[in-house]
Amino acid sequence: MQWIKEEIQNAIASWKRENGGEDYWREPLTAIASAVDPLFDRLKSLVDPEHCVPADLVPGAKSVIVFFLPFEHWVGRENDRSGHYAARSWAQAYVTTNKLIAAVNLHLQDCIRKEGYEAATTPATHNFDEKKLISRWSHKHTAYIAGLGTFGANHLFITRAGCCGRLGSVATTMELPPSKRPAGEYCLHKNGQHCLKCISKCVYGALREDSYDRQLCYRQCLENDAHYSDMPLVDVCGKCGANVPCSYSIPVREARRPS
Ligand code: SF4
Ligand code: SF4
Repeated sequence: MQWIKEEIQNAIASWKRENGGEDYWREPLTAIASAVDPLFDRLKSLVDPEHCVPADLVPGAKSVIVFFLPFEHWVGRENDRSGHYAARSWAQAYVTTNKLIAAVNLHLQDCIRKEGYEAATTPATHNFDEKKLISRWSHKHTAYIAGLGTFGANHLFITRAGCCGRLGSVATTMELPPSKRPAGEYCLHKNGQHCLKCISKCVYGALREDSYDRQLCYRQCLENDAHYSDMPLVDVCGKCGANVPCSYSIPVREARRPS
């Protein structure tokens, strides 16, 4: 597992050297899922009947490596303060991180193949059914199975480094020891505590305490894409994850003020 973390760090360092530009990221997180974890089979009923299992990506898959590239705090702060539209820096971080994830995926594939095993990846995004807006390979659910974190009331994935960032995953025939899943929910609300700061951030009507309207959410993401028409596809929003208690770490309950 340590060598995988190191190879991810090597891939990031070499990509940064070659490409330069803004540095949007904190230390990456990594976890491993067993490809035969029974939770993968449940994704067909939980997410979509067409959701893949690891063996659909690479026959004989034994493990799935999942990594999270957490954004620097300033990226979330700028998105929080940018008004109706996502911040330009948030949109740029999205585009750049997708390129970085592709580079990390390729590097991991090379390393694994050099050891005599097979590996396969799916893109960080845009691998979804355009009508249902549901992915056939959910990085978030795969990250959950691998033990990288838990889901928030904002429908984002909360890791030890928060939910502001992006996930990538690689399925392989190499057998790796699976990571442990967290014992409880990271989200304060799901943990029975007072929060729901994410709900108040969604002024677009997509996120409510008891529901999430995927179509409305995606409409807002496309508004941002149209707003940044000078950029490649940036169907992002992320306001419900920007500068909330779970943005950059496992959220902690605010101390009560003395009465
Ligand atoms: S803002 Fe609060 S309620 Fe919303 S996902 Fe984060 S921890 Fe959970
Ligand atoms: S991404 Fe934007 S539109 Fe979608 S739920 Fe979050 S705040 Fe609402």
